[in-house]
Amino acid sequence: MATITVARHDLSISARETITEALRRFDTQQGNAWSDLMRALACQERAVFITGPDRFLRPSDVPLYTAPPVDVLEMPWRGRAHEAVTCLIGAGYLPGEPAMLRRNDAHDTYLDTGRFFEAATVLKPFKAAFVAYEGTRTLIEEIVLRAGTYVIASTGLVRRTIHGIGYTKVYPVTLPGEGVSLAQAECRACSRRWWAKDGSWWFRPEHARDAPWSYAAAEDHRDGTVACPVPSCSGRVGFRIV
Ligand SMILES: [Zn+2]
Repeated sequence: MATITVARHDLSISARETITEALRRFDTQQGNAWSDLMRALACQERAVFITGPDRFLRPSDVPLYTAPPVDVLEMPWRGRAHEAVTCLIGAGYLPGEPAMLRRNDAHDTYLDTGRFFEAATVLKPFKAAFVAYEGTRTLIEEIVLRAGTYVIASTGLVRRTIHGIGYTKVYPVTLPGEGVSLAQAECRACSRRWWAKDGSWWFRPEHARDAPWSYAAAEDHRDGTVACPVPSCSGRVGFRIV
């Protein structure tokens, strides 16, 4: 379970830890192939060529100042991710619309910062060759992007940080990371329960006979719990975010 912070001005769950949990059912090893591709595309010392997975690319196929063979796709040099995606759509490796699924959990949740999931579907496998020209030498490094879905998870509100990329051979996928918009509070002594949702601090009781309360008025924050809001109860209320 991801860490929940219970403090005077903070009731939140670690976005980063929820990402680690959400990517557990994905292959992050293969997911790295996608980040290697994106990094190479942004790198100014390298040219990136795309071919079928079984095509063997020799240095003589891609000499400097020469257009590549027809079965080799040259990616935009120092291209941005969306330009690369457009290029791959054109070559039929990615689906046209939508090429990327996106989910934005920056609002109405209990996350401690913005969280984003993006998924790119690769329809047919391809090889990405990263080519560096050093004097007369042409250096080639290759990776294979398997068909399937690559899920890119990042956090941040102003500046985003990618925390992980997961791969699964199925597509389309439902974006992971559900369960951060409902907070359950439960008193260990009187067993009363309350629920709040969409990032709200207003806790409604499970039973009509009990009173609602606001987390803003909670007291004695300690060890992930607060004092039970019921005046006659001296118990502690713990939280679960689901
Ligand atoms: Zn209680």
